Amino acid sequence: MSLAITRKVLIVLLVLFCILYLLFILLHQTWLACLAVGTLLLFVICSAAFWRCPNCGKNLGPLSRRKYCAHCGKELDA
Ligand SMILES: [Zn+2]
Repeated sequence: MSLAITRKVLIVLLVLFCILYLLFILLHQTWLACLAVGTLLLFVICSAAFWRCPNCGKNLGPLSRRKYCAHCGKELDA
């Protein structure tokens, strides 16, 4: 998975978590909290597995667009 696609998937998961959490606060439905926690876990797992520099393999940190890896300096497509 390319970094640009990974970044988009991670942002969608984060937005989905926020929506589910807000719905849980408003509606007090336990299943919404479970879905929100599941979405957050998926975000953490995808971030740890795929949000990495293709050159050095280190995590790229926050989801901001970056041109270069902060660790090795390789140009990125994110
Ligand atoms: Zn790197």
